[in-house]
Amino acid sequence: MVMVVVPKSHPRYESLMVREKLVSGFRSGAVACEGLIAQGRGEAFDYILGERTHDAALGAVEAGACLLLLAKKPVISVNGNVAALVARDIVRLSGLLSCPVEVNLFYRTREREEAVRRILVDAGASLVLGIGDDASERIPGLEHERGRVSASGIFCADVVFVGLEDGDRIEALRAMGKRVVTVDLSPFSRSAVASDVTIVDNIVRCFPLLCSEVERLKKCSRAELSRIAEGFDNEKNTARMFLAMKDGLSLAACGGDLDG
Ligand code: ATP
Repeated sequence: MVMVVVPKSHPRYESLMVREKLVSGFRSGAVACEGLIAQGRGEAFDYILGERTHDAALGAVEAGACLLLLAKKPVISVNGNVAALVARDIVRLSGLLSCPVEVNLFYRTREREEAVRRILVDAGASLVLGIGDDASERIPGLEHERGRVSASGIFCADVVFVGLEDGDRIEALRAMGKRVVTVDLSPFSRSAVASDVTIVDNIVRCFPLLCSEVERLKKCSRAELSRIAEGFDNEKNTARMFLAMKDGLSLAACGGDLDG
């Protein structure tokens, strides 16, 4: 196996290190090769956004934190990419919300379940749902392997955090009456459209922010959390992200520096 050493001085150091995390997740069996393609799609949108967190994304982070804090049974759904990129933050969020973490895979195999579980346990998770026979309930409308969930996790949750997912799954969760908070760099995706709160940002940047928001907002009353959550309009917020992309493209067209 060839190990690539990326010098810190490289202008795309951060982004290359994120790729390395995914490749390492792929080698451990947690990330599907399709997951690498999904990352590439995300990177293209991130480039247009100047690889920074925009104000609209911060608004979505705040609203998402409120929804999760208001939930009676929140759950954090984790796939291979999410585990490879932000396992420690997943464990932190699960601690802050006292909620379970559940492995939920599009390309589900017993080996991949175990590989994702291992990453989460190494990052400090004590209980990981959705492994083996634990994933014996079903999300109606999704065919066999893709629809399997834990009876004590996603199946009975009222609010689910689902990152880097395909829209099908999110639509099916919404059809079950659940509220969904997602992270997706593509405001075009069906996931972005179908979710209650869509954070259009790179998960490696916004997930630590989401944890900090949950920590900050924990002190607020339920009335205050509801006021913020109900005042959030996902369609309008996603539209702001399209405008941020348009600004990024206009700047580039004028010879500006997207990183600036
Ligand atoms: P949909 O089914 O919702 O229309 P899709 O077919 O693009 O979306 P996937 O192929 O599962 O669904 O891709 C997952 C999504 O995750 C993509 O929209 C991609 O832009 C996004 N994505 C990939 N990597 C990241 C990342 N690091 N941070 C945030 N979003 C990401």
